[in-house]
Amino acid sequence: MVNLLQFDRAGLGDFCEQLGEKRFRATQLFRWIHQRGERDPAAMTDLAKSLRDKLAGSAVVEALPVASEQVAADGTIKWLFDVGGGDAIETVFIPEADRGTLCISSQAGCAVNCRFCSTGHQGFSRNLTTAEIVAQLWHAEFTLRRRLGLAAGERAITNVVMMGMGEPLQNYAALLPALRTMLDDHGYGLSRRRVTVSTSGVVPMIDRLRDDCPVALAVSLHAPDDALRDELVPLNRKYPIAELLAACRGYLARAPRDFITLEYCMLDGVNDAPEQARALLALVRGDGSADSGLACKINLIPFNPFPASGLGRSPRERVAAFAAVLQEGGIVTTVRKTRGDDIAAACGQLAGEVQDRTRLAERGTRAAPVRVERRVAGPVSRRTGVAAPAPVRSSS
Ligand code: SAH
Ligand code: SF4
Repeated sequence: MVNLLQFDRAGLGDFCEQLGEKRFRATQLFRWIHQRGERDPAAMTDLAKSLRDKLAGSAVVEALPVASEQVAADGTIKWLFDVGGGDAIETVFIPEADRGTLCISSQAGCAVNCRFCSTGHQGFSRNLTTAEIVAQLWHAEFTLRRRLGLAAGERAITNVVMMGMGEPLQNYAALLPALRTMLDDHGYGLSRRRVTVSTSGVVPMIDRLRDDCPVALAVSLHAPDDALRDELVPLNRKYPIAELLAACRGYLARAPRDFITLEYCMLDGVNDAPEQARALLALVRGDGSADSGLACKINLIPFNPFPASGLGRSPRERVAAFAAVLQEGGIVTTVRKTRGDDIAAACGQLAGEVQDRTRLAERGTRAAPVRVERRVAGPVSRRTGVAAPAPVRSSS
């Protein structure tokens, strides 16, 4: 059986052709799946009967099994999905007054091994398939639409950020059709500026993304110089800062916004000193060099500690002082609000449970069955007392 979540619309067209059907039928099918959340071909009433019959025998819309769902006091929802083989991935929904953002995973684990990231500490297990990436959005969108009682044309998810587990640009082949499905007017219809790929700096793939599907780009910088960045983000040894910033400048030629977001995780006593802020400012302004510098916004992320990191969160005043240096230097700088940390859904906290399960798998022991722990049965608002996210009318 083929999982239809695997295909962007062009891929679905190829699949229809293989079944001996006209390519254009893929558009109708795609809309049933991604705009109406339908899984059952028999229910897709306006599809040609011949196609429905063929689909019934050869294809499914296979969602990911939910291992658990947790809702934070602020309305943030974290889903843990079982992706088999002892691996699980996490997806986080972040409701705000005027938008609903979904933070999606691209890999089970991550090979980059950043010092401050719990996903990195857990090691790399495997790439997710396109179907597994898209299934996170499919599940969130249609679960929330039902739960919130949204009318046709209203969307639960208005923004996607590839900031969950994994390095999306190290899983490019699967990422690309997933992005295309998110952007497709017959799919989720998200604009390029509402879909953000966050990367630790896989330089050649930044160039590919610019050419293939230039969505909003966030780059995890975390240090103003190579010596420190080599320590924090080991990939820097392969693609040092100068090359990374050059790739970012190249990306701007086609980016949907006229800036790149630089993420900078504030680590107590490691990268948060005023002189490091000044070095960062000089770096992004390109002081002393005509062809360097970068049009960017800087997003300071309070570090979310986890025991194995041995690192601490910068005090609030130090973050404010760091931000002030950048702002006074003319760089738009924001401090990220931490969401959902009471359920370990904040940046870099994902996948505590997976760690144990992976170790089980490594030992060759059969992984324990995933605990099904649905903590929420009804609408978010009823259970938590937190206002349900405001539905946002889709622009299409
Ligand atoms: N691999 C990609 C995307 C996933 S990580 C990347 O690194 O960009 C998403 C963001 O969370 C990155 O900016 C990352 O640096 C940040 N992050 C990781 N661990 C964190 C932690 N413990 N506290 C705060 N932010 C963290
Ligand atoms: Fe991987 Fe991103 Fe975590 Fe680094 S911060 S280990 S690249 S997920």
